[in-house]
Amino acid sequence: MADDCIFCAIVAGDIPATKIREDGDTLAFADIDPKAPVHILVVPKRHIPNITDLGADAEASAALLRGVRAVVEQEGLGDFRTVFNTGVGVGQTVFHVHAHLLAGRPMTWPPG
Ligand code: 5GP
Ligand code: ZN
Repeated sequence: MADDCIFCAIVAGDIPATKIREDGDTLAFADIDPKAPVHILVVPKRHIPNITDLGADAEASAALLRGVRAVVEQEGLGDFRTVFNTGVGVGQTVFHVHAHLLAGRPMTWPPG
């Protein structure tokens, strides 16, 4: 657990969140400020700052993608968008890697 990491605190149960799914390696919970009718965050339970660091760990990478897949199946998501913001310049505000799963409305490509 990293000090001052809000997602580590959610994983630890120190900050409440609306849990969607949990397994041994990952936690999925509702985004507190949803940008789409469905906006779920999937995180590794272990603190890893971003997707490039995640990519250095094959087991953790696979576990996160398994978690994403399981949420998609559980929630019956049809079309959905997956976003990993990396760096302040593109809007990363929490430096504990998280997959945004966005669904439930039409989305344009490319994003703004
Ligand atoms: P980022 O901007 O780093 O890609 O995404 C961080 C996301 O975390 C944002 O969409 C934001 O709404 C969400 N978020 C920030 N603080 C909390 C919180 O305390 N609880 C939950 N559930 N989501 C949060
Ligand atoms: Zn963390």
